[in-house]
Order: sequence, then C-alpha cells, then structure tokens
Amino acid sequence: MARLAQTHGLTDVQQEILSTVRDFVDKEIIPVATELEHRDEYPQEIVDGLKELGVFGLMIPEEYGGLGESLLTYALCVEEIARGWMSVSGIINTHFIVAYMLKQHGTQEQKEYFLPRMAAGETRGAFSMSEPALGSDVSAITSKAVKDGDEYVLNGQKMWLTNGGTSNLVAVLVRSDEGHPEGTAPHKSMTTFLVEKEPGFGEVRPGLTIPGKIDKMGYKGVDTTELIMDGLRIPANRVLGGVTGRGFYQMMDGVEVGRVNVAARGCGVAQRAFELGVSYAQQRHTFGKPIAQHQAIQFKLAEMATKVEAAHAMMVNAARKKDSGERNDLEAGMAKYLASEYCKEVVEDAFRIHGGYGFSKEYEIERLYREAPMLLIGEGTAEIQKMIIGRRLLEEYRFQG
Ligand SMILES: Cc1cc2nc3c(=O)[nH]c(=O)nc-3n(C[C@H](O)[C@H](O)[C@H](O)COP(=O)(O)OP(=O)(O)OC[C@H]3O[C@@H](n4cnc5c(N)ncnc54)[C@H](O)[C@@H]3O)c2cc1C
Repeated sequence: MARLAQTHGLTDVQQEILSTVRDFVDKEIIPVATELEHRDEYPQEIVDGLKELGVFGLMIPEEYGGLGESLLTYALCVEEIARGWMSVSGIINTHFIVAYMLKQHGTQEQKEYFLPRMAAGETRGAFSMSEPALGSDVSAITSKAVKDGDEYVLNGQKMWLTNGGTSNLVAVLVRSDEGHPEGTAPHKSMTTFLVEKEPGFGEVRPGLTIPGKIDKMGYKGVDTTELIMDGLRIPANRVLGGVTGRGFYQMMDGVEVGRVNVAARGCGVAQRAFELGVSYAQQRHTFGKPIAQHQAIQFKLAEMATKVEAAHAMMVNAARKKDSGERNDLEAGMAKYLASEYCKEVVEDAFRIHGGYGFSKEYEIERLYREAPMLLIGEGTAEIQKMIIGRRLLEEYRFQG
C-alpha cells in the first residue's frame, strides 16, 4: 500500500533529503521521544544530529553556507520531524523564522554576520512578539525602544518565547516612536531588534533577563520563557533591515512562512496518531475479533486517513505557492487552520481507539493528546486564521455591482 501523505513531483534531491530525515526520525527520535518528553528534557543529542544533517540551514542560501532549499522541502522535513516529536520541530521553527526574516529583510552586513552562523546551528534563533497582555493583537505591543546616541534602550516584558533559554539570537518586536510622530498607525511604529545574548536563564546580557521555563501541559523538552528588558542597550546596526518602523511587516512575513510550518507540524502529528491508531486497532480484540474489524472503528480510520491526506495536500499547496513567489497568506491561513483542527480530531480518534490504555503514559498517544492543542494556538489561533481568510476572500470576490 502507498503510505499516506505522499508528495508528487519532488526532485531527486528533495526525495533524498526527506528519506534521510525520515530515517533519522525513525531511528533517533521516535524511540526516545516519549521518555524525554515525560522528563521535560531538552533533546540535545537529537539537536546535534539535526545540525549535522544540515537541517538548521535548510532554507538559508548556499552563499551563506546553507542548503538553499525551498519552503516545500523545509515543510516536508518539519512534517517528518513532528511525526517523531512535535517539540523537536518547535526547536527548529523559531530558528527558521528568524533566518527567513534575515534573508528577506536583513542588511547585507546582518546577512553576512548571522546567516552562516545560523546555517551551522551555532547561532540559534527565537522570535518574540507576544506580551503578557497580548498575543493575537500584535498592534497593542507596549515594549518600547528609545534612541540614545548610536544605541536604542529597550524596556518591557515579553511572553511565550519558544527557545527563549536555548537561543542566542532573539528577534524582538517593540514599539519605537522615534521618527514616527504620535498618531502614527501602530503597525508603522514598530521595529524588530536583533538581540544577541548568552543561552541560559537569569541575566543573559546586561538589561536582559530570561526568568525560567514556563511549565506547560505538553510541548515539553523545548523551553518556552518570558523575556524582561530593563534598560537593554542595542546598537542601531541591530535594527533588522537598518530602518525603524518596518518591524510589524517583517514579523508578519515571518509568521506567514511560520504558518505553513505549523500546518506541517499538524500533518506530522496527525500521521503519527493515525499510525498508532491503525496499528492498535489490529491488535486489540473485543467480541471475538480485532477491533479494526468492527465497522465503527474502520469508519474512524477512514475519517482519520482522509483528514491526514487533505491537510497534507493543503500544506503542500501553500508551500508551493510561496515558493513560486506569489502571496500565500490565504493558502497558509487555510492550511494552518485545517491542519491544526484535523490534527486535534485525528489524535482524539486515535486516543479513543486505544480505549483506557490511551490514558496511560505507557502509550505514545497520551503524549500526542497533550501536544495537539498547542497547534491550535501557535502562529495565530483558529479565529485569527479565519479573520485572515475572510478578509482575503472579500478582496478576491469583491462585489462589482
Ligand atoms: C507553547 C507556546 C509557545 C509560543 N511561542 C511563541 C513565540 O515563540 N513567540 C511569540 O511571539 N509568541 C509565542 N506564543 C504566543 C502565541 O502566539 C499566542 O498565545 C497566540 O497568538 C494567542 O494569543 P493569546 O494567548 O494572547 O490569546 P488572545 O489573543 O488573548 O486570545 C484569546 C482568545 O480570544 C480569541 N480572539 C482574540 N481576538 C479575537 C478577535 N478579534 N475575534 C475573535 N476571537 C478573538 C482568540 O482566538 C483566543 O481564542 C506561544 C504560545 C504558546 C502557548
């Protein structure tokens, strides 16, 4: 039987990369993921292995030491990795968004300085928009940068920083009123700063504190933190792109590719849930036969597999659209929305197929059940995706009467 979620039209190079990553996932991630997750342990060996495979530089151009691959290749790798353990895809995701933002918007000096280090995995990126009082409403950001000579002084508190502790480069979005008179639209008075820091917790640079890991329901292993700026001084040449007031657009561009990425993670987790469900259903017997022979369970499997296929197709479509140079916010929003919702449903069905054992920590599905909800929230909730989709539809189907 053909495996689910096949992608047609891949080049030999893409196929080779994917089969290498899949092999790594089967041998190095799946066997240890649940144990590490239960201990909330950072998967250092896995990260080192992915560095060696070049995954941290997958989309970074070859001239900066990366593999120069497409968003599609990247998303398909993320799908494979999330199939093994969603947290590992989270370790790569913020790094990838920051590298993408640098590639698209950085000054030549910033690209030359950061991208080769990022391709090697020496510099590891995190990005920070959310604050304690806001996530969806980015325009309400209150953290602020004020110019002081050749530097900016940053103050404020950030929240939900994935890889906040383990990264050494954070792209931070703050309000910067300099040059933007009062009354300027919020999205035109924001700036992205490239903040270098030591990895770890506590005061990691004068004026910058990473307090500690937030204790989460799932998505363990990867660290998620707060970030406190108290008189943090950043040189003017660390404004992304060299010009203030463009941060909102730069971040939204980053989040757009991030959405394809989250869709890919949803696809990977759903695939694993299907694999676990279809396997268990053939082993567990009730009323004299394997439960897979009861039509109700077969119907569940059919629904699950259909959702896996549909989500994969939409994710691939969104990635290909971006790779072709076209705007893909509609496709990325739809793919993220559908893949994360389907992921939650497929995981729940696989959980139900496991009966009481699904509730036991001995079974992998227990971990997936705690991981799937994160995908409903990260890179914009379902409501935010629907707002984007709705707005774009009204642009495309404008009433001409
Ligand atoms: C584990 C984890 C990791 C994260 N990592 C990062 C990170 O690395 N960097 C980062 O910047 N952020 C990160 N986030 C933050 C994440 O992006 C936000 O949590 C998300 O955008 C939602 O924002 P919020 O939590 O403030 O919810 P709110 O914005 O307060 O929303 C609450 C509810 O109201 C709904 N809602 C809000 N506005 C509207 C509206 N206009 N119409 C209808 N419904 C609406 C939302 O859909 C949601 O259901 C992370 C979050 C989590 C949980």
